Parts: sequence; structure tokens; C-alpha cells
Amino acid sequence: MTFYDIIKNLDWEQETRSIFSKTAADVQKALTKSGNIDGEDFKALVSPSAQLFLENMARASYKITRQRFGNVIHMYIPIYLSNFCENKCVYCGFNATNKIPRNVLDDKSIIEEIKVINQYPFKHILLVTGEAPAKAGVDYFINAIRLMKKNFSQISLEVQPLNTNEYKQLVSEGLHGVYIYQETYNEKAYPKYHLGGKKSNYHYRLETPERLGMAGVHKIGLGNLIGLEDWRTEAYYTFLHLSYMRKTFWRSKYSISFPRLRPFAGEGFQPNVETTEKDLTQLICAYRIADPDVELSLSTRERAFYRNKAMALGITSMSAGSKTGPGGYGGNNELEQFAVNDDRDPFMVADSIRKNGFEPVWKDWSLYMQMA
Ligand code: SF4
Repeated sequence: MTFYDIIKNLDWEQETRSIFSKTAADVQKALTKSGNIDGEDFKALVSPSAQLFLENMARASYKITRQRFGNVIHMYIPIYLSNFCENKCVYCGFNATNKIPRNVLDDKSIIEEIKVINQYPFKHILLVTGEAPAKAGVDYFINAIRLMKKNFSQISLEVQPLNTNEYKQLVSEGLHGVYIYQETYNEKAYPKYHLGGKKSNYHYRLETPERLGMAGVHKIGLGNLIGLEDWRTEAYYTFLHLSYMRKTFWRSKYSISFPRLRPFAGEGFQPNVETTEKDLTQLICAYRIADPDVELSLSTRERAFYRNKAMALGITSMSAGSKTGPGGYGGNNELEQFAVNDDRDPFMVADSIRKNGFEPVWKDWSLYMQMA
């Protein structure tokens, strides 16, 4: 049975109504079942009724996180290798119809970016590209991983979905994790955000985590783009996906990220659904209470003030110092995918982590050492 078999008979609107109908008693019940949460409990934790219990949820989330992860926050940095993209996602500046300067980094440019990043002790790097296999396909990723291995012990990807054999090939090269977001689980709404290119195939994207599991990828990142459809219903489907993956591919570790679309001035795509920092807090706590072992990751899309607070809520992984375009670390800011909200230097982020009583960890697992 695939994950799609589980959700194909669910009705999005009905699930949304079910979440909104949860009561305070449902939330209280869910709070007594940490780590043993079913779908109905999770609905309660993300429901409007749970907003009255945010302090209880935050306390529970803090306690569970410290028990499972200790006092550490893992740090990573993304490197954008290419902004070519064949897809037409209405919410993204890299989309194929945008007339923007494009670039794909060659070896020399990658090495220059690495040199800048190496001012900091990062050992986990996330390789990011748009989705344009003719410009950055499997051979390109293999080469990039080989260049990275000399400097980083943990290498993850956030690129176009690949097939199982391609993922296996990358794992044998030293790939540690892959982050793939469904953007929206609402199958009916999906086409209006994805107007063209391979990403318009809802099913191929949805099945990607299963291909990752089959390929033996060590860490699999799931999530949705917050701001497209109702965030509570998206979270419920993401939770179902996480639960399915845990049962089916139990050897892999899992991560949930919270990419949140923010309203911005001027023309361009605006979020359909507002998700506030309070809502985000509820989401983070709900996932932690539901799944004590899942990595919860918060990027520089969020402002420094909120990221400092979120450390105590259940977040276990953070990017820092991020540039969101190819060549960004060398000073090219023309090619950015989005403007970051937390532009602190990585050492400043690490200092804030310490001041909040946590320990920044620049790597958590050394694949390279294990393979050597
Ligand atoms: S979100 Fe990804 S796939 Fe979509 S246009 Fe942007 S880079 Fe391309």
C-alpha cells in the first residue's frame, strides 16, 4: 500500500471541518498521549481549540525535546548551485517564466563558495538547485558531492525528485539526506500552484519519499509550503505522511521543516492563508508531541527574534548565514530565490544559541568517517 492509497479517499474539506470541530477535551486527551498520538489526536493539537493550551504544549514540547535530543541545536548551511528551473510554480522567483539572470556553478565557482563557507565550522551542507535536469542532473550532483566531501561530513540535497536508482547512486557517493516538500497535499488545489513542468505531476512528487526510503537514504525531510492552503489541514496530511514513512521505512530518520510564505510589498504571489508566529509555534509543538524523534528544522526565512524563541519549543536544527542564490557567498545577490529574514552571521547565531542555554553543534553524524 502506498501513501497515496491512504489519502486518496480523504476529502480535504471534510478533514478541515473535522480539525475545526475538535474541542478542548480532545486537546487535553491528546496532551496525555505524547509519542502515541493518532490522526485524531494530531487534529486536536493543530485545531483552533489548542490555541488556549499553547503554554502546556510548549512545556510538553520542551521536555520531550530535551529528553530525546539533549540541549543541542544542529547547524547547517545551504549552498545554491543553480537557479535554472523548468517548472512554473506561481510562488517562486526561480520559475521558468521569470526573466531573471540564471547561473549554474561550475567546479571553480563551487570551490570558491566552499572557501567562503569554510570560515565557519559547518560540517552539514545542503545542496540546493532549481529543477532543471539538463543543467543540474545526477552527474552534476555526483560531482558536487565529490567536491563537498573533502570539507563536509554530512551532505544533503534539496533538488528535483529523482528515481530510486539515481538516489542509490548518490547514497553510494556519500549523500546523507534529501528534503522534498509536497508544497500542498491538496490534490485538487495542487495544479493552480504548479502550472507547468514535471513538478505539476502531483503523484510523482508525492511518491518521492517512498523512493528515498527504498534507496536507503539516511534522512528524509518532509513538509509543505506554509501559506498555500489551510495550514492545519496541511499539517494533518504531513503527519499522516510521516507516520506512513516511519512504519514503512523504519531505517530512515525523518525531518520536518516549516517553510512559511510571507506577505511582501509589490506584485507577486501573496500567501492565500495567513500563518502567524503563534500558529507556527502551535505547529512546532504539535509535531514534537506527536513524534518525539523527528528532527524539527527552522530556516532563515524566520526572523532572528522568533528563531531565538523557537529553540526552546522543539526545534532541533537551524540554518545560519544562508544565501539563497548561486554564487551568493561570493557576493552575488542578484540571483536570490527569496530574501532571508535572519541575516545574522553564523557565529552570531551560535552565540544566541548559547545565550539561550543550548549548545550549537555543527555536525551530528559523520557519514564520511563511517565510510572511510
Ligand atoms: S519552487 Fe522549486 S521547482 Fe518551483 S519554480 Fe521554484 S525552484 Fe523551480
